[in-house]
Formats: sequence, structure tokens, C-alpha cells
Amino acid sequence: MPKADPVPASAAKPADLLAWYGRHARTLPWRVPPRARGRGRGRGAAPDPYHVWLSEIMLQQTTVATVGPYFVRFVERWPTVEALAAAPRDDVLTEWAGLGYYARARNLHACAQTVAGAHGGQFPDTEDALRALPGIGAYTAAAVAAIAFDRPAAVVDGNVERVMARLHAVTDPLPGSKTALKALAASLTPSERPGDYAQAVMDLGATVCTPRRPKCPLCPWRPACHAHSAGIAGELPRRAPKKARPQRYGVAYWVTRPDGAILLQQRPDRGLLGGMIGMPTSDWLDVPPDPAAQAPFAADWRALPGIVQHGFTHFRLDLTVVVAQIDDPDVPDAIWALPDALGRHALPTLMRKVVRHAFAHTGRA
Ligand code: SF4
Repeated sequence: MPKADPVPASAAKPADLLAWYGRHARTLPWRVPPRARGRGRGRGAAPDPYHVWLSEIMLQQTTVATVGPYFVRFVERWPTVEALAAAPRDDVLTEWAGLGYYARARNLHACAQTVAGAHGGQFPDTEDALRALPGIGAYTAAAVAAIAFDRPAAVVDGNVERVMARLHAVTDPLPGSKTALKALAASLTPSERPGDYAQAVMDLGATVCTPRRPKCPLCPWRPACHAHSAGIAGELPRRAPKKARPQRYGVAYWVTRPDGAILLQQRPDRGLLGGMIGMPTSDWLDVPPDPAAQAPFAADWRALPGIVQHGFTHFRLDLTVVVAQIDDPDVPDAIWALPDALGRHALPTLMRKVVRHAFAHTGRA
């Protein structure tokens, strides 16, 4: 294994970043701005842990711009963690539709129920106790502990990794350098205002130390930044070449009744898109499956031209859509939806692609 390049110490000061944050903090619907928050725990307005947790779960793999309207809708509909816990899970999944990664929505609901039940509606305030809750990993536990409870936790997302890599001129590529970048982030985290500090580093990464063309002249840490002084800021962080995602194949079954209603079914809880509603599908295999062999029942299946392509995190999927009309509506666990009513179901993105493809080729809707 090649030896890691030595990392020069940085003279960056958290206080300089906090002063910058006081002037340039982004306005976000879940955030208590630094001026309102005041200096330190117990002074000034406190963030609502429910809002912090909800926003952090929503922000995983999704942008701030996308999450904003979802967050506002969620807290209008379910103003407290107890209200969210008491909601039917299907309502939560429906509101979540479009944010992807539905296992997160299921865990969100399970976590709300645990906090409302076992914790009396109060989120625990330490990283360890937060990590014990459903759907909360190391990053989210650190973010909630820091932002909601002002614990000096090292909160390291992609923005923070980029800032640390540049500040210290870490030239070893990600993901191998993750541990080193986390240690650097931890060493800079202050005990004074750690919640504001965590949000300040994220904001710096999102608005100034951007992936392409960092705006170094606007950066409060420029005098201490090794990548800037070496002229390599735009090249960092380096990344190891990505492995190609494997290709899988499947079949989606577009079944209609004589009145035009379309067959939907709820998928099993476990597995990708677990618990979500959609058209029946085959297994997703390394080779294209035989549509008739995997069909939910025997019918006169006809393949539509073209395919539906979708990218999951770990593989790419090509779906062939086959259609059949059946007269006998007696299909176990069927949910029949007329075309105009499809929008009332929380269809995941893949299933919405199947709907568009089927309508485009069958001339309906
Ligand atoms: Fe990023 Fe430039 Fe600031 Fe360094 S000086 S932390 S590269 S914005």
C-alpha cells in the first residue's frame, strides 16, 4: 500500500470561520440563524431537535434546494415528532415521494415512533444515544448532537471533506483518505459554539469552497489554506477511479382492466423500494429475465418498444415493460388505480418512469 503523503498542520482558526458565518450564514427553513442562537448552550434561541433531525435525514443524498419544500410540508403537516409518529406510514411515504431512498422514509417513521414512545418525545442529546435510533448513522448522530445540542461532534459530510482536504492539502484520494479527513475535522472542532461551527464549515463548502472553482478570495481561511498557497485547490479532493456499476435487467408488468384501471401492488418491506407501491416487476437479474416465467399470472403479455433505464446507487437497471389486459379483476393484493388517480399513490421514481413509458406507448393519459 502506498505511504500517505504527510499532512501539514493548518493554522486555520475556528473563530475566523465563526465570524464569517455570522455575516454569511445561509437562511434555511430548519436553521436557527447565528444571531438568534446566541453564544453557547442555554443562551439565545435553541434549534428544535425534531427540525434538525428531519432536515438531516432528508438531506442525505439530496440537495438543500430539493429538501426545502419537503421540509416545510412535513412540519406543517406534522409539527412535532409525536405527530409524525402517529401518522399512518403510507401518508409519510406519500409525502416523501420524490426524495428517493425509501428505506430512509421507513426508518424516519420508525425513529419518530421510538422517540415518541421510548424517549417521551425528546431526542437524546449524545452521539451514542442518537446512533441507537433507527436510521441514524455516524454522520447524522454527529450532526444532530452538534447542531441541536451544541455537542463538540465532528460533523463530516462531502462539503467538510472537501474543505479539510484543501485546507491541509491532502493529496491522497477519497475514499481512502476519509479517516484522515475526519481526524482533521475533529481536531479543528471547537468546544465553543460547536453547533454553529458545524454549520459554518458546511456553508463554507457549499458556497465558497465549492467543488469547481473555489472562491478563495472570499474565504476566511485563505491565509491558512495549504492548497490555496500551493495553487492546487481546484484539484482537491482527489478521488480514486469509480468502479463501473453492474448492469441488471428486469420486467415491469403493466396490467389494465377493461375500465382502464392499472394494477399496482405493494412491494415487500425488505429490499430495494421496500414497502413502496408500484407495478409488479420480475426479479432484477444479471441477464434479461423471461417475462412469462416471472409474470404474476398467466396472460397474453406483449412487450412495449424501448426500455426504462434507472440508476440505483449500486447498479443500473434496464426494465422491459410488458402489457396485458385482464377481464378477471381477482388478483391477490391488487390496488387498482384509474389513470387520473395514479398521482395519489406514492410511486417511486422508477415506477413513475414506467408509467410515462407505458402511457407513451399505449396512447393513454
Ligand atoms: Fe477552500 Fe480556497 Fe478557502 Fe482553501 S482558501 S478553504 S481552497 S475556499
